[in-house]
Amino acid sequence: MKIDSSTFTHTIDPVLLPVLGTNEQFPVRQIYCVGRNYADHAIEMGHDPSREPPFFFMKPAYAVLAEGGALQYPSGTNDLHHEVELVVALKGGGAALTEEAARDCVFGFGVGIDLTRRDLQGEAKSLGRPWESGKAFHHSAPCSALSRIESAGLDPEALIELTVNGETRQKGRLSQMIWRVNEIIVKLSELFPLAAGDLIFTGTPAGVGPVVRGDAVVAMIEGIGSLQIEIV
Ligand code: MN
Repeated sequence: MKIDSSTFTHTIDPVLLPVLGTNEQFPVRQIYCVGRNYADHAIEMGHDPSREPPFFFMKPAYAVLAEGGALQYPSGTNDLHHEVELVVALKGGGAALTEEAARDCVFGFGVGIDLTRRDLQGEAKSLGRPWESGKAFHHSAPCSALSRIESAGLDPEALIELTVNGETRQKGRLSQMIWRVNEIIVKLSELFPLAAGDLIFTGTPAGVGPVVRGDAVVAMIEGIGSLQIEIV
């Protein structure tokens, strides 16, 4: 049986992120995320980073909430957690990349929040089930406009911080990442063919915790930008 594509009446809007200082919009393809990429966060979650390396999971492109703003408290949870993360945006890709090729794939960086239904994630972990209900829900990936910075232009000592209602909850340095940006791209490319449009959320420092309706959340990374969401 042949399917006539002219019978489809819907169109799919691309998910776009603005690029700072330009009129460009970056179309998002896939979202990859790194789990437990900061030792202090791995420890706060009850893991030993010297024994268990970081790992990957994914979110759909439609999880992006571009430039933050009002975020509807998601259904099905009583424990919505914030995780501030450096986001890498790719302008190229490929499989089994070298470190040099990985460096050339970087378009720029943004500030993201890997929102997590911690109660559902915890249940999935304990039952050995997949993580989508905990991690991959609608608007689970607020992301700032992108700064067009080459890989080499990233300051490894840049401060990464998240505040809730003006109070600091997470604070670290990008140098605390167990896998650095180029290394993440190399490792990901061994598992998935990467391409322009891919975003990588690179993990969060310690201090994750719940947000509730009415909270104002500000995430920032020195030299990259900032992102604000209000939980409604
Ligand atoms: Mn995360």
